[in-house]
Amino acid sequence: LDAPLFADLAGDAQVSFEFFPPKSEKMEAQLWDAIQTLSPLGPRFVAVTYGAGGSTRERTHATVARIASETAIPAAAHLTCVDATKEEVDEIARAYWEAGVRHIVALRGDPPRAGESFEQHPGGYRNAADLVAGLRKIAPFEISVAAYPECHPDSLSVAADLENLKAKIDAGATRATTQFFFEPECFFRFRDKVAAHGMDIEILPGIMPVTNFAAISRMAAMNGTAVPSWMGRLFEGLDDHPAARQLVAATVAAELCRKLYAGGVRHFHFYTLNRAELAFAICHLLGLRANAKALEKAA
Ligand code: FAD
Repeated sequence: LDAPLFADLAGDAQVSFEFFPPKSEKMEAQLWDAIQTLSPLGPRFVAVTYGAGGSTRERTHATVARIASETAIPAAAHLTCVDATKEEVDEIARAYWEAGVRHIVALRGDPPRAGESFEQHPGGYRNAADLVAGLRKIAPFEISVAAYPECHPDSLSVAADLENLKAKIDAGATRATTQFFFEPECFFRFRDKVAAHGMDIEILPGIMPVTNFAAISRMAAMNGTAVPSWMGRLFEGLDDHPAARQLVAATVAAELCRKLYAGGVRHFHFYTLNRAELAFAICHLLGLRANAKALEKAA
């Protein structure tokens, strides 16, 4: 792939950022710091995750509502089907609509305890496609869903996983964000399969800058993401060098973005883990520049 140099990137990329709801005042301050650093880059939207088993229901809502009321950036709320009746989930969605939130990331969700398998709540939504259909009946939300370039571990086959994505689109989703991955070809192959399957949908690559190689490797093993051997070599010997690790992490993720850009990608979704600097540096390399006015809410 003939990727352009960073210096030649036109600055025409768009970005979005994912945060998790803070658990303490200190984490809240860190999150808000991250939002203030990243907002001037003019993201298309920022998204706030929903804890496993619906454990962050109030905190997700409070975070999304604060972003919606204090910044001009469209905020998206993640919502899952785990451990809740349809009525409970619908009520949350209605509260979002009333708070002015127009974008939901609709997910089946992971069980509250890692390693267990998903159990549909007796009165709950069956899966993400079912949730999308339910949301469609509540209000004309913009709905994003999850997609898996390396196949979801629960899926019987790649074809079944694509069919599941199609079911989510047919139910009314208009965008999919991918699980993280480390090789650009992995995304390109998936994009081709989605198109060959007759799906016309925007697919945002989920970019995970790796600062803690051991933690990301564990996460990758659980969700079926391949960790290339070159990545292990790049992080070797950096455990006691946090600053160097940050630089390597930014380089690796920026390289991935540069190759994706060469393959036509123009929107990058960053898993920020509520830390701004890495995503900010990568966006900068992609040609984006901060515009201080972007954070101000229109009067
Ligand atoms: P679905 O699309 O419903 O399906 C998942 C898998 O199960 C698919 O492989 C599908 O083929 C299979 N499947 C679905 N229905 C059936 C059925 N009826 N019979 C047989 N197989 C079926 N988790 C959270 O808890 N909170 C979050 O905020 C969160 N945010 C995320 C954001 C992104 C961008 C991504 C990629 C994931 C996120 N997750 C989050 C993780 C997600 O909840 C898990 O990956 C979960 O296991 C699947 O969710 P889904 O929406 O993809 O499920």
